[in-house]
Amino acid sequence: MDLGIAGKVALVTAASKGLGRASAAALREEGADVVICARGADDLEATVTALGGSEHVLGLREDVTEAGAPARLVAATLERFGRLDILVANAGGPPPGRALDVTDEEIEAAVNANLVTSIRLVREAVPHMRASGWGRVCCITSYTIKQPVPGLALSNLARTGLWAWAKTAANDVGEAGITINLACPGLHETDRMKQLGGTGPMGSPADFGKVVAFLCSEPAKYVNGVALQVDGGATLGLL
Ligand code: NAP
Repeated sequence: MDLGIAGKVALVTAASKGLGRASAAALREEGADVVICARGADDLEATVTALGGSEHVLGLREDVTEAGAPARLVAATLERFGRLDILVANAGGPPPGRALDVTDEEIEAAVNANLVTSIRLVREAVPHMRASGWGRVCCITSYTIKQPVPGLALSNLARTGLWAWAKTAANDVGEAGITINLACPGLHETDRMKQLGGTGPMGSPADFGKVVAFLCSEPAKYVNGVALQVDGGATLGLL
């Protein structure tokens, strides 16, 4: 299947490892130029090289959760590649915590990283998509938006807010040729999952990246306002 995104330009945040990196790799495989960011330099450099080098990949050291980072990332994308067609909004996940134990500071940090940061990114990216009449946004969230997981209170609360916001925003941009969808991973074999001590059968980040690339593709033009679980069927509700 031709995803129809060769020559498009994608910004993928938090993408030197794990699901962000796999999404950037899948978009690159389809012929898109990609801009990726992360805080640490070593994995970022290694990923730029692994994705084919600096002709088609720009790596930027940014903490995407800083208030000014989304604007800087979009500006740098425009400066380097002259356009922005695809946004994959990703950030690190919050620490585990039971619902009644989380502090105000932890709530603020989770809401900033996993809700407000994505909104800022979309706000910065969409005007450039409107200008060309074509755009794809995919936010990487979690299957916990469909079935909250006990002990992941911060993730549960911040990401469901993003889902409500994205569903609303998708409606606002659909007629401009832009889609906004969520990709909701279940357990995938990444460094974060190793830190959280996840066990059992897990999804492959490379496969997840291909799902993201499909949501960002030309033929997915009529898929808008969807939160797609990629969880091997772990979510049990009829959602
Ligand atoms: P990961 O393997 O730990 O990779 C995270 C990537 O994001 C790294 O490249 C990291 O690089 C970068 N990053 C983290 N915080 C950042 C920040 N503030 N600014 C810029 N870059 C940042 O994580 P992952 O498993 O791919 O998870 C990605 C997202 O999916 C997270 O929100 C996670 O909670 C969610 N999720 C994952 C799973 C799973 O099974 N893996 C399941 C459900 C949800 P630096 O550290 O160098 O910045």
